[in-house]
Amino acid sequence: MARYTGPSCRQCRREGMKLYLKGERCYTDKCAISRRGKPPGQHGGRRIKLSSYGIQLREKQKVKRYYGILETQFRNYYEKAANMPGITGENFLRLLESRLDNVVYRLGFASSRKEARQLVRHGHFTLNGHKADIPSIIVNVGDVVEVKEKSKNSPKFKELKERSVNAPKWLEADMENLKGKVVAAPTREDIDLPIEEHLIVELYSK
Ligand code: SF4
Repeated sequence: MARYTGPSCRQCRREGMKLYLKGERCYTDKCAISRRGKPPGQHGGRRIKLSSYGIQLREKQKVKRYYGILETQFRNYYEKAANMPGITGENFLRLLESRLDNVVYRLGFASSRKEARQLVRHGHFTLNGHKADIPSIIVNVGDVVEVKEKSKNSPKFKELKERSVNAPKWLEADMENLKGKVVAAPTREDIDLPIEEHLIVELYSK
């Protein structure tokens, strides 16, 4: 399974904003954006006026980076969203939000989407009682995501039982039992990321 293996902070510096890819570190003063926000590379400090194509491209890259998805899969989500009834941009974001790794992150079982993806791949979760180790699985309303019984006693998950989480309203988190339920489909208002999805739609529909 292809994935980006370079430095996470470089991606934030490229986009000129915090993408929260490293969990707790992102909230400290060790964050590279807080320390020296300029874009990476020798000429990173130069100001460049972007064309409309450049703006659309940057928006697409930003969203890919938020969710940790590479181009082919990202494009496939767009194609799927375009073929669904409703507004393409909103369908697209809904698909991205409904990925199992994102749900694990939103439920507070991981401090970043990257960590969530790794935990899912390592088989720490079940979906409706069945093993689920594919981060891109799309969850549906009524689905239950739970930490596998065997993993519940690991220090990582035991510690989570003490935490309170602020899960979005389309998810119901039960930290005591280390599980969560999808109670509704995410709406556009539920997705609190600074995304202008219409720019991505414009880019892909050219
Ligand atoms: Fe981005 Fe987090 Fe690195 Fe800051 S610490 S630059 S938010 S990945």
